[in-house]
Amino acid sequence: MKHCTQCGNSLSLRIPESDNRERHICNSCGHIHYVNPSIIVCALPCFEDQVLLCKRAIEPRYGLWTLPGGFMENDESSPEAAIRETMEEACARIELMNLYTFFNVVHINQVHLFFRARLLDLNFAAGSESMDVALFRYADIPWKELAFPAVESTLQHYFQDLPKQHFPMRVADIIITENNNRIIRPHDFSHDRF
Ligand SMILES: [Zn+2]
Repeated sequence: MKHCTQCGNSLSLRIPESDNRERHICNSCGHIHYVNPSIIVCALPCFEDQVLLCKRAIEPRYGLWTLPGGFMENDESSPEAAIRETMEEACARIELMNLYTFFNVVHINQVHLFFRARLLDLNFAAGSESMDVALFRYADIPWKELAFPAVESTLQHYFQDLPKQHFPMRVADIIITENNNRIIRPHDFSHDRF
């Protein structure tokens, strides 16, 4: 960030009064530019024992498979974002079931949410950001061609939970190790503290 979004003048990086971390502050109008994590909202559209995946027609991860999702917009709720993104990327109508997985992706300042959803009909098709959309059973999932670790983790949880028909919410961090591998570190909230 180089210029003030309010007046266009130069910025300096310093800690505002009564704050504890550096922010870009305008040298002219004093506007403080706070930058906070982005929220990515996704759906896990399910039909019988199958899930709907989209093959990406855009970067990043062009040509790999993902669950429909994207950046939450201002003026919408997270369920609205999941439904909108599923319509945009898979032309698919869904009904949300529950918030299912939640990932903190600290190294890129993102939070990824996945809602489990019911596919309302089979009239889906590739949207503008997808080159293909298809239903997959567990055995047919292209595990080696999935776009994101959060997608892989969500699918693994889903197919483990499916026989029990019990879909508890999972929270995890996706972290980069020293040798540049991405690993998933689950949060365990099961401590009986209260
Ligand atoms: Zn300014």
